[in-house]
Amino acid sequence: MDEHKENILVKMSNTGEEETVKACSRVCPEVESVPQVSPSQPNGDYSHPVYKEISLANGHINRMSKDELRFKLAALQLDTRGVKDVMKKRLKSHYKKQKLSQSAAEGDSPTDTYYDYICVVDFEATCEEDNPSDFHHEIIEFPMVLINTHTLEIVDSFQEYVKPELNPQLSDFCVKLTGITQKLVDEADTFPAVLQRVVTWLQERELGTKYKYAILTDGAWDMSKFLNIQCKLSRIRYPQFAKKWINIRKSYGNFYKVPRTQTKLSTMLEKLGLKYEGRPHSGLDDSRNIGRIALRMLQDGCQLRVNERMHAGQLLTVPSSAPVEGSAAPHPPRSRD
Ligand code: AMP
Ligand code: MG
Repeated sequence: MDEHKENILVKMSNTGEEETVKACSRVCPEVESVPQVSPSQPNGDYSHPVYKEISLANGHINRMSKDELRFKLAALQLDTRGVKDVMKKRLKSHYKKQKLSQSAAEGDSPTDTYYDYICVVDFEATCEEDNPSDFHHEIIEFPMVLINTHTLEIVDSFQEYVKPELNPQLSDFCVKLTGITQKLVDEADTFPAVLQRVVTWLQERELGTKYKYAILTDGAWDMSKFLNIQCKLSRIRYPQFAKKWINIRKSYGNFYKVPRTQTKLSTMLEKLGLKYEGRPHSGLDDSRNIGRIALRMLQDGCQLRVNERMHAGQLLTVPSSAPVEGSAAPHPPRSRD
């Protein structure tokens, strides 16, 4: 059950104007409408003839049966798993990429800057059955899984448990849900010390300095709720490097054109023809599985882009018209005092 991550308000941010919308009420149209490599003018002019060719190919793909799609994908040595819409999208992306790179090779494309790495984060937090509305979640697991977007592989991971300070005793429900035992959190460090090591880990990999990277989460809550609350409880400032991220649910919904009700972790995996690997609600295993979805989306031609951010304690949407920006270089957390 992961709806708990979605029941929040998001503010749309576009050229300074802000409008409050229900995060889970609709498929946000702002992502994935921009092509990966644009052979035409940067401000959305699709008059270049290559777009006519792409549109014709898309029309043809739309008329193909499931067997025809599978046959074609196999002939192109592409993945044949997933439901019909996923296969369609994969084939369309393949042709689009091919046509745009031909066009680029002919010299009429500007280069596109993109992330070298995507860092998946999936916090686990203290909880109770049905979480009372005044319940203060504290982070108890900080995992990260690093994806190299060039080699399309998971290349590294980090995991530390965290000792909760406000409610040091885990509920039986929480232990059962996450598999995180009382002993693991008793022996762990408190959040500021763990965050310090997270920063060091990111710095050692030169993320945000030598390499462009973006954080990726499953839903908005990891940053806008769990991290936000934890920083307040720990009396440290919300870290700059976590102020924008890719919400994969939004990217997935927009890319494969499915409603937000079909973007739960288990549903995304199932529709892609993948099986959950490991233990659900283990932060590291969740991160790996979210990473597998991200990899599949990249392979299918999706340009995962930052689509949410925090500003003055508020969750905002980043429109796809915004330039592709990565996460900031990590720095040690500053005290609020
Ligand atoms: P997840 O990434 O889905 O494992 O969820 C992250 C955190 O949300 C968990 O560590 C819990 O604190 C909370 N959570 C997830 N599912 C539930 C649930 N069914 N009931 C209460 N809290 C939950
Ligand atoms: Mg999780």
